[in-house]
Amino acid sequence: MLSTPVGTVCVYCASSERSPAVYLDAAARLGRHLAAAGLGIVYGGGVLGSMGRMAEAALDSGGRVTGVIPKFMQELEWANRRLTDLRVVEDMHERKRLMLELSDAVVALPGGCGTLEELFEAITWKRLGLFFGPVVLVNVNRFFDPCLELLATCVSQGFMNPRHAAMWSVADEPEGVAAALESAPQWPRTAREFAAVR
Ligand code: AMP
Repeated sequence: MLSTPVGTVCVYCASSERSPAVYLDAAARLGRHLAAAGLGIVYGGGVLGSMGRMAEAALDSGGRVTGVIPKFMQELEWANRRLTDLRVVEDMHERKRLMLELSDAVVALPGGCGTLEELFEAITWKRLGLFFGPVVLVNVNRFFDPCLELLATCVSQGFMNPRHAAMWSVADEPEGVAAALESAPQWPRTAREFAAVR
């Protein structure tokens, strides 16, 4: 069974300007792809790194892009002023909650600790029945292979239930994201009943 239709996607990605071009290019490709697919984007609202590339490319392609940025980052003038919609929130916790509330699905590009933390929070919320949408890892340059291996180990070592492995899926290239969102399995409304491993 397919998951509910996705209209808006939360994209987690890096702020680094110094990652190899393959990642910055992938971010721009994802922005164009999501805009072409008619999907709205919610992201961290910044101008730097993969975040900036993804948002600029989506806007240049006529996409709808909402940024959610904490006040302190806005004061540092890190916010992208071109955005269709910019939400300024109190802190990082409010940012992450609002980003998920505004979105039907999560897409993660390669990134640093911030990206990984956001991705793992989304997966955790899904496990706990607080979020139900698809979670897609864009495995550019096989960046997420060690992360996928660790997640598989979490399941094989009994820290998660085998059913939990259905919480995430993988697109090898940014252009595969819309298809991955469409084919993601529906996450049961009863997720909370099997969240704990007993
Ligand atoms: P990382 O993958 O470690 O670069 O973290 C990406 C995440 O860090 C973003 O989604 C934001 O939560 C946060 N972040 C770090 N630097 C910035 C910035 N200059 N502008 C906006 N968000 C930032």
